[in-house]
Amino acid sequence: MVKIALQITCRLDNVEELKPAGPEFRWCLKFTCSNCGETSEKWNYVSLDESTPVQRGNGVNHFVSKCKLCSRENSMAILEDTVKSFTSDDQGKFKAIVTFDCRGIEPSDFSAREGWSAKATEGGKEFNDVDLSEGEWEDYCDKSMQPVGIYEIKHKFERIK
Ligand SMILES: [Zn+2]
Repeated sequence: MVKIALQITCRLDNVEELKPAGPEFRWCLKFTCSNCGETSEKWNYVSLDESTPVQRGNGVNHFVSKCKLCSRENSMAILEDTVKSFTSDDQGKFKAIVTFDCRGIEPSDFSAREGWSAKATEGGKEFNDVDLSEGEWEDYCDKSMQPVGIYEIKHKFERIK
């Protein structure tokens, strides 16, 4: 088993906190088979809300797939308590916002897509339908009377020992 953290960084404009809006948030990922090295070109959605029990033991899987090339059955789970916010203090560095427990596959690509929640600074609104599909997002907070935005979202994966 390998644990892999997804780290992101971005620039926040009048936003103090960016996070997945809830357990129904769907992480959009591509995977590589650790057995044969095959990388699937398909995007897969993985969500805490959609799990299946593992065949042996107590855990759950949030994604199961059979490798097209070597036919091995691979799976992974989202570690629920590793889901974190990216805050205005985290700007300028990468921060792990989720860790995946990978069994036979590793994530190779991530797309932010939609379902994010962004909290405006200075007591502003919480936006719960933030779409980062284009890599950025802009709106106006009519409570704190200021424009809000998220820009230059980047990601990387890090193996955790
Ligand atoms: Zn394979």
